[in-house]
Amino acid sequence: MERNRPGRAGSDVRGVPSGCTPFCFQESGSEGDNLMRDDLRALFDLQETDDRLVAMGRDREALTGSLEDVARQMEAAEAALEEMKRDREEKQKVYRDLEGEIKEIEENIRKFKRQEFDVKTNEALWAIQKEIREHEDKKSSLEDRAIEAIEAIDQQSAEIERAVEDLERRRQESVRHKTVVDRKLGEIDREEAATLSEREERRAGVPAELLGRYEKVREHNRGVGVARISDRTCSGCSRLVTFQDLQLIKRGDRFMYCEGCGAFLVWADGAGKETDGTNEEAESRP
Ligand SMILES: [Zn+2]
Repeated sequence: MERNRPGRAGSDVRGVPSGCTPFCFQESGSEGDNLMRDDLRALFDLQETDDRLVAMGRDREALTGSLEDVARQMEAAEAALEEMKRDREEKQKVYRDLEGEIKEIEENIRKFKRQEFDVKTNEALWAIQKEIREHEDKKSSLEDRAIEAIEAIDQQSAEIERAVEDLERRRQESVRHKTVVDRKLGEIDREEAATLSEREERRAGVPAELLGRYEKVREHNRGVGVARISDRTCSGCSRLVTFQDLQLIKRGDRFMYCEGCGAFLVWADGAGKETDGTNEEAESRP
């Protein structure tokens, strides 16, 4: 998992030269200014570490979510297969019942045919023959239904076969998916452990009072305790800072907070041109 890790020195952030954080001060400061700037850089680095931890948490959530999705899909496919099997059993029962009825009718027809030989009158013979005809008709219609039932069962069996194959394919896919996800989760766990200790180090470098404010602001500002000002806009809440405040933020000789979200503010537009004192920007003029 590759992430940009802006550092205080030797930064590897794309577009930011080594030795410069992704924010800047306009001028060289006094010794007091430099101490404050160091604190601000430490806070900025801490924010960067916290951002990475948040991103890792999101990645982990997405990965475990994808496992849950696959499990849910498998469950649904299994349930659908069971439903198909139950449906086929019902159709098989209908078929067995039809078979039973047909056998019963055949038995009756045989009985009537035996009686044909024993009747004494024509009326009795016609009555028996009428019974036989009616039974034959009923048998024929039951046989049609039995054929339909068999066809439906065959069709259902073919569908079940396809569903079983599909389920097996999904099962294999889900095993492969889980292997990949487990590996990625393992990577996140390792990266998180390393980042947590890095975070502890960075926290140790920030004065307690500033740390307290940073944590407090982060709590209600979607994790942003230090915001970058670019195009006069706060990265924490998108609020526009005044030209006057922008000058103060650029100078970096006092802590500046966003009036919108309360975050510490740093100037990002000058990144890469740090402390040469020559980069008066057109946008800085009121
Ligand atoms: Zn803000």
